[in-house]
Amino acid sequence: MNNEVPKRIEIHQGDITTLAVDAIVNAANRTLRGGGGVDGAIHRKAGPQLLAECKTIGGCPTGEARITRGYNLPAKFVIHTVGPIYSGKPKDAHLLEQCYRNSLALAVAHQAASVAFPAISCGVYGYPIEDACQIALNTACDVLATESGIAKVLFVLFSDSDFQVYRKHLKALISG
Ligand code: ADP
Repeated sequence: MNNEVPKRIEIHQGDITTLAVDAIVNAANRTLRGGGGVDGAIHRKAGPQLLAECKTIGGCPTGEARITRGYNLPAKFVIHTVGPIYSGKPKDAHLLEQCYRNSLALAVAHQAASVAFPAISCGVYGYPIEDACQIALNTACDVLATESGIAKVLFVLFSDSDFQVYRKHLKALISG
């Protein structure tokens, strides 16, 4: 791999709703009507206009993504993607990869050069963090290798243990 690519990836620990990036990604559910976890945090901070815009979209299938404005968030856009509920079947990995690919494609289409992701599907949806992390990092590298419109991809992990997993895998990518 072009070893400049992993340098466009950053990992952070904390709350994704505080980031002043072009777009933050929401681990939404198929209704796009808000929920718990990171989805709830994003809607609380963005304010009721976000839910109003989401209602006009009318839902999102698993693996796809939709974009809205960020309203009261410091981020300009919210990209809502629906991760798979972990089942242990091969389709999980494909759907999770599609979440990252489709979110980054929307970012490019809206000239969003900095994009921050939470650990999609790794909360209530139960995806094992090690496997999900490898899909997230590998897919981001793959897209960044051909997509110059994205300057920076950030991964924002809420827990220290998830952050350590991402740190380990990113280090391996950089040294490999
Ligand atoms: P899913 O339903 O896709 O599993 P969750 O919101 O339950 O989504 O969890 C996704 C990940 O987001 C989990 O790792 C959770 O710890 C994390 N998370 C929760 N709140 C925040 C936040 N404010 N910023 C970043 N990550 C968050």
